[in-house]
Amino acid sequence: MTTDITAQGGVQKEKSMLLQKAMISANYDALARAHDEGKKVSSTFVPGNLNELLMCFDMVRNLPEINALQSAMRKQTGAYIMEAERAGHSEDVCTYVKSDLGMMAKGSIGPSGQPLPVPDLLLLSYTGCFTFMKWFELVRDQYNCETAMLHVPYQADGKITDNMRQYVVMQLREHIIPSLERVSGIKFDIDRLREHLAESARAEDDLVWVLESAKHKPSPIDAYFGGVYYCGPIFTAFRGAPETTEYYREVRREVEQRIELGLGPVTPEGVLDEERVRVVVEGPPNWTHFRDFWKMFYDEGAVVVASSYTKVGGLYDYGFRHDPDNPLETLADYCLGCYTNHSLPARVNMLCDYMDKYSADGFLVNSIKSCNSFSAGQLLLLREVEQRTGKPAGFIETDLVDPRYFSSANVKNRLESYFQMIAQKKTRHGVAA
Ligand code: SF4
Repeated sequence: MTTDITAQGGVQKEKSMLLQKAMISANYDALARAHDEGKKVSSTFVPGNLNELLMCFDMVRNLPEINALQSAMRKQTGAYIMEAERAGHSEDVCTYVKSDLGMMAKGSIGPSGQPLPVPDLLLLSYTGCFTFMKWFELVRDQYNCETAMLHVPYQADGKITDNMRQYVVMQLREHIIPSLERVSGIKFDIDRLREHLAESARAEDDLVWVLESAKHKPSPIDAYFGGVYYCGPIFTAFRGAPETTEYYREVRREVEQRIELGLGPVTPEGVLDEERVRVVVEGPPNWTHFRDFWKMFYDEGAVVVASSYTKVGGLYDYGFRHDPDNPLETLADYCLGCYTNHSLPARVNMLCDYMDKYSADGFLVNSIKSCNSFSAGQLLLLREVEQRTGKPAGFIETDLVDPRYFSSANVKNRLESYFQMIAQKKTRHGVAA
């Protein structure tokens, strides 16, 4: 099903991957050196992160979820999770949390093999997942460092009101910015924030273009397994930096070229030759067996054309861009608009919309055992999307970073029969038409 990319001009794809790899490793270097160089370190989560604001105070940014998933890809999280469970954390706790706590217990060596510093500030933007709060309480107990919490109202009615926005702006002005000034010793400069926000908006335009390229047939990207790479820099420590804008320009160039050549997505084994099935996926991926999991899709010619997970760090495809003209309001809107802050009916609407816009043949839920934020209501969501779209839905269960909960044979069997059923359905419709 795939063609070796070295024979297909895969060099350009390599360039964006190398750019991203260099950015990630530079950030781990910066974290390892931060305290020796007199810099301050913040820990913060992906959804609703205030990266542009943190950059205004020269804070080095540490993202515990990213450490967990990077460690999982390097097969390190099994031991961390066991360590956390030995310390009394239940089997049902989010495995990102247990991986982080286990890593701390084992000496805080990050996925790059370098030490991770004790954070000077835990900055929590509370966007819908209660676990975030409990996670930082545990880290704070251990490190006794300063904590700043931005409370973001839940979008229960599916819209952002001006009251909600002003409530977040007020907290930014009166609590978050003063905390950042105190910890960093740097005075807040709103023009510096505007510059970072303008960079963010440029990169966001290109990210949306790349994600929406999956409307093409064949899709030039996989919007789940490839999508997590594309979203990586903008969801984490790099949004608002000029090298991130350059990274997205490069990804866009690569995808434009694939469209011109009529090529499908690049997989770890090369370019996908034949797109047989187009699916929308709900739920985070499994990280411990990421490549095996992806292979189960591309071996069947299944391409993910849209996914909810690539929206946890912002729903840019529905028009949101960071706005340098309204710097604090735009940060508020960003936090309020993250996927984890949306209600179940809003999520159903979004997924049905994706099924339609991306001409998907099926809808698949990857239910994550330990992520309540995504898993709650997923069966209801599955039935609703199936009913509204008339397209077959599938359901599998894995975990984020706990290798004990990825049953390869089981997942493979389910996926194969699901994709084959969709492919047959498509053929029958084609013949009937
Ligand atoms: S429960 Fe889910 S959303 Fe919450 S921190 Fe864990 S992985 Fe993230």
